[in-house]
Amino acid sequence: MTRRALITGIRGQDGSYLAEHLLAEGYDVWGLVRGEEAAPRIPVAPHLEGAVRLISGDLLDQRSLIAAIEQCEPDEVYNLAAISYVPQSWRQPEATAEVTGVGVVRILEAIRTVSGVRESQPGRGGQIRFYQASSSAMYGNARETPQNELTPLHPHSPYGVAKAYGHYMTKSYRESYGMHAMSGIMFNHESPRRGRQFVTRKVSVGVARIKLGQATELRIGNLDAQVDWGFAGDFARAMHLMVSQHTADDYVIGTGRLNSVRQLVELAFSYVGLQWRRHVRVDPQLVRPADVVVLRADYGKAAMRLGWHPSTPFEDVVAQMLESDMRLLSIA
Ligand code: NAP
Repeated sequence: MTRRALITGIRGQDGSYLAEHLLAEGYDVWGLVRGEEAAPRIPVAPHLEGAVRLISGDLLDQRSLIAAIEQCEPDEVYNLAAISYVPQSWRQPEATAEVTGVGVVRILEAIRTVSGVRESQPGRGGQIRFYQASSSAMYGNARETPQNELTPLHPHSPYGVAKAYGHYMTKSYRESYGMHAMSGIMFNHESPRRGRQFVTRKVSVGVARIKLGQATELRIGNLDAQVDWGFAGDFARAMHLMVSQHTADDYVIGTGRLNSVRQLVELAFSYVGLQWRRHVRVDPQLVRPADVVVLRADYGKAAMRLGWHPSTPFEDVVAQMLESDMRLLSIA
């Protein structure tokens, strides 16, 4: 029988890649979106419209989540919705706690309510599998590097703290109610559909503008910051692999490789045949304090148990982003 998946955050970067992956696997894919059912669009992936059924719901509203799960009757729920940008979480810590943290409990409760899972019947986990999008930001000022599933969490941003809450609640519902619930502890992953506020996309849009003669310089913060960057499509594949396992468990997903912002900038400019030093200006206002510990994934457990490995080199991700932004900006 065709499996049905409900994805929250389907209008975001990961939601669109996961929807594509699940459709290719023969799934019936539904997406939860805020607002009226008639209005919503998937701006990052318009080609998915028609292939995916959209229903309305909000992580801030318990009743809407129960109604969505009753209507959809999913086999699997992927909770990708969040306030996902760290600087925004500093500006709106309370909203971040509500959406990114408590929102996870609302959806777990909605699943529990609809599946009729009772506290008094541990082990009867119900039929619905649940995936939570946890984040390497939960490690924050980690005490060790690289980080794996056993590394203690030490979040330092409101985003990281909210993700840690959702992570622990997912684990708690798995252990207390026997729910088939799990978290992917995802390190950074990028694509042409990345939000424009994130540094990789700032660079790809900025470089494309310079190449097209629409701008002359790119202002950037700390060039020495190092990040474990992967490709969103590879990470969507990991989510599905996790949910398809017989036993629910948490996994670190990342590449284990670091690139600096300087390397990102060099790659992007050289892709379009320009000298980065001529165009890049370090803006002290954009420099954020460097992390005490560089976050780098040890994804050994995912490799061993899921057979998952990242398959897209960072150079290819940057090239894809440049191709896409050059196209978008030429027709704009
Ligand atoms: P994204 O592009 O920012 O997408 C987030 C989605 O959440 C958006 O579609 C947004 O809907 C939705 N949303 C926000 N508030 C909501 C609410 N109250 N109710 C329902 N939906 C709401 O994020 P992403 O990059 O795809 O990441 C997916 C998930 O993975 C997020 O939880 C993120 O924190 C986590 N994660 C991402 C990375 C990464 O590197 N990308 C790394 C680790 C973890 P609208 O479109 O309507 O605004």
